[in-house]
Amino acid sequence: MNMLTAYFDEGAQVAVELANARSPFRRGVAVEPDPTASAPLWSLQTALRAILDADEPVAAATGINALLHAAAAAPMLEADPEGRWRLHLHSPHADEISRMAVKAATGLATLLDDDAWHTVKSCAAERCGDFFLDRSRNASGRYCSRTCANRVNARLHRRRH
Ligand SMILES: [Zn+2]
Repeated sequence: MNMLTAYFDEGAQVAVELANARSPFRRGVAVEPDPTASAPLWSLQTALRAILDADEPVAAATGINALLHAAAAAPMLEADPEGRWRLHLHSPHADEISRMAVKAATGLATLLDDDAWHTVKSCAAERCGDFFLDRSRNASGRYCSRTCANRVNARLHRRRH
């Protein structure tokens, strides 16, 4: 995997984690939003939640483009300390939130580019508002985690007995 592919891959995961930081419930447990989150972080999390929640790729694309525009993404080649060329997608002057926004947005953008938006899912378990990237072979996953799958199975089991 080259550096850029790894960056995109990590970016999609970062997008999911940022959006999940605002889930009202995670894996059956109610969560309070982090009161220390800054206003720019809060609005990035909100924007990512709306993008991941988009049913149609066109709505996701519009949200992703808006994030890239707001973060002033500016691809630029720079040599790293070992002299290897690296393509940076954020402006060299970008603050931490803008760097995160560009990373998350480009990570999600590559999912659209790969025609893989259907792998972005929200957990089907009750009392879980988390999104996840379904990396299963035929993208048939329904739950964000083993914890949620087990909760659902235990519930069905109780109902049968
Ligand atoms: Zn879940």
